[in-house]
Order: sequence, then C-alpha cells, then structure tokens
Amino acid sequence: MKKIFAIMISLILIVSMVGCKRGSLGMKNPLLPSHIDGDTSTLSDFQKNMHQSHVRNILYACETDDGIYFQWEAYVYYLEKESKNATVLCGKPDCVHWGDDCNARLQARGLWVYDGRLYYSNRNYVEENGTYVNRGNRIYSVKPDGTDRRVVQALDFVPGGNTETSRTDPILHQGVTYFTYSGVLYALPLGGDIEDAERIWGEESEDPGMFFNTTAPHYTLWADGDTIYFMVNIGQPDGTDKDTLYRFNAASKEVKEIWKTPDADEVGQWETTGVSVSQWYVMGGYIYFYLSGNDFWRASLETGETEKLADTHEKTEYGNAVFSDDYLCLLNDTPRTAAAVGYDDLTGYTGGNTLYIYGLDGGFVKALSLKTLYEEYENLNHIQLAFCSGDDVYFLANATAYGQSGNAENGWAGGEQAVRNEILCCVNIKTEEITQIYNWVL
Ligand SMILES: [Zn+2]
Repeated sequence: MKKIFAIMISLILIVSMVGCKRGSLGMKNPLLPSHIDGDTSTLSDFQKNMHQSHVRNILYACETDDGIYFQWEAYVYYLEKESKNATVLCGKPDCVHWGDDCNARLQARGLWVYDGRLYYSNRNYVEENGTYVNRGNRIYSVKPDGTDRRVVQALDFVPGGNTETSRTDPILHQGVTYFTYSGVLYALPLGGDIEDAERIWGEESEDPGMFFNTTAPHYTLWADGDTIYFMVNIGQPDGTDKDTLYRFNAASKEVKEIWKTPDADEVGQWETTGVSVSQWYVMGGYIYFYLSGNDFWRASLETGETEKLADTHEKTEYGNAVFSDDYLCLLNDTPRTAAAVGYDDLTGYTGGNTLYIYGLDGGFVKALSLKTLYEEYENLNHIQLAFCSGDDVYFLANATAYGQSGNAENGWAGGEQAVRNEILCCVNIKTEEITQIYNWVL
C-alpha cells in the first residue's frame, strides 16, 4: 500500500511538473490546419503505410497530402510533412495540453481522414452532463484543427458492455466502417445505426446479450484499392496457430481464404517455432512479408506461389520492418536477451542503429546510419519504427533514463530518478538527413 501510494505521489508530481513545464514553455498556439489542402479523393482509401507502427505509444496515424496526424499517448499531434514541424492538435488559449479538457486528448484507437474531417474510435467512458457514462466503443469526428467534436456512430451492440477492455479495431474505407465484434466482422456505412451493421464473416453468438467475447479470434483489417482483407490467427490440426488471410469482395459479398503463413520447410529456418510473420503488407495482388531472422518474401494471392525477394539476413540477423508502397524499411534492433531484460520499452527488442532500405522488388537501396543519435543521447536504448511516408522514415528514439526503482512490468519508467525521454525523428531515404521532430520529456 505504501508503495502504491508512493507511486501515485510520484505520478501526480510528474503530471503536475509536465503541466508546469508545458505551460511555462508557453507552447505557441499552433498554426493548425483549418482545411486539408489538395486532392483528398485518394484519402478515402485505407492508408496501408500508416498502419505499420511498432511504437507502443504511436500506434495510430493518418496522412493528408501535406501533413500527418499521429497520436502519442492519448494526445493527437499534427506534423507538417515539408517543414517537419509538429504541434499538439489543440489551439485552446492557456491549455497545458494535459488532461480531459485538452482538445488534442482524443484517446483514439484508430485515426482516419475522410471528407475533410478527422475520424477516430474511442472506447473510453465519456463525460456527459458532469458525470461519466460508458457509451462503449464509438466513432467520433473532429475538424482538422481538433475542434467541433461529434459522435458519428456506435460500434458496440451493448453500450455499457465490456468493449472498453477489448478491441473492435475498426478501419474506415471509402465511407464504410469495418469492425470486429466477438469474432464477427461487420460493415456499417459511416454514420449508420449499428443495428444495420452487415455481417461479413464469423458466426454470431446466439446469446442476444452479445457482450463482447474477449476470447474470440482477433482480426487485423486491411484494404487495398476496393478490396478488404483481414488476417486471423487460426488454430491448425497440428496444434499450431497460423496467420490466415481472407479477402472480401464488397460487390459479390464473397469471402475467400487466400493465404496462410508458409511452413518452415518452404521458407527456411524460423526465428522461433512461431508461425506468425513478423510484418506484412498487402498490395497489388501480393502479400509482402518479413520474417525476423529469415528474410523478405512475397506470395501471389492468385497462385499462392511464394518467392524470396531479398536475403535480409546478410544485412542483419534480426530486426523490425515497416512497409510503404515503395519500400521495405528494416531496422536492426535485436531481441532482448535474458541478461538485458531491464527497464526498457517492453517491445521485446532493444538497440537498433542502422536502417536497411529495400525496394518492394527486393532490390537493396541503401543503409542509413542512425548512430549520431546514440552519440547525442547517452541513454538512448531503443529505436522503434513508426511508419514510412514518401521518402521519410519515422521512428521513436527512446532515451528514457530508467531509475534504480524503475518498474519494467508496468511499462512506466517509475521511480523518482527516472526521466522518460522519447524523441520522434525522421530520416529521409534520399538526402539521409535526420530530423528530430518532437521530444517528450516527462
Ligand atoms: Zn490542449
């Protein structure tokens, strides 16, 4: 109890320090985008490259022609692609950008730009007339500057149920929301009533209560052009589980299983006995996949034929990757050893100082060194890949100084001596210039 109290006190201190710090810095009310410039027609499609992040604190992002919206912790930021200026999505005068009153605090579980507004899903309790009410998982939208928050639709068949502890993981695609609920995939026109949601795949429970089944299969939703895909990890007769990809044809309503993780004897030695690919990307009738420790592959979704595109193990034995429509970006971070388990960012990986860039045809483009960041930040312990946009690769450098009383289990640096320091950076593949974009020091 004493310990919990001490942790609470230190949390309160940290939060209030942050408040003072940001307030005293007088963060300028940013030049927030009042509209989205340029052609937004392509933005109604799923942005594959924005769904590649491995950064625990930056899982959600979307982009326009000129900028990128991303969420760090519960707060959404807007980043200008050209200038690399990032600013919290809140223009409120005197706001310290910490707490429920901040416009930027969206606590999103997914971010999408569609038809001139920013959409997000949120599964938290909402404040209504001074009290907190559980409205379940819903889609909201705001203007591009973070104002004018509106409820768009419910994604919860049982408002007040248990989805705030589970995942509907929706995607927004061409004006339709796709989401999963208790192992069933649904489609619902944006703004439509959830009672009109159309079942696409999976068996609905006969229990009319339909509380969210937290043990139901989890779907990772994807889209390429007009086609919807979803990946499910499915138990096999031999007792293993395999990533299995399905394709949904919105015109014919047909769902078809089109790919499964290949067996080890087809693609060589696996890093572990696991049968999930490390990272994957579906585009133009192919699934591209990277296996940590075992190279870069693609498989035709028509013929099922698998081919190796590059021997990435010649550059790095391990690593994490992000894809874009043009590149595979591979960082040489390594799995933690038992001896190295300490106060880290709980990703299971550590280090990482070189990016290897490949074309999607497997051709090696170049290696980009990130070593100067390690020289600048002596506490830098892990670089995590976020996403690739155009020729820019975004990543988070974790330079947190973990205190002696740090706590690796709860994900919080913890302890009086810990200083959490996470720096959003970008490296340009063509110019090789590294830009430090935003530095969160708590
Ligand atoms: Zn604010």
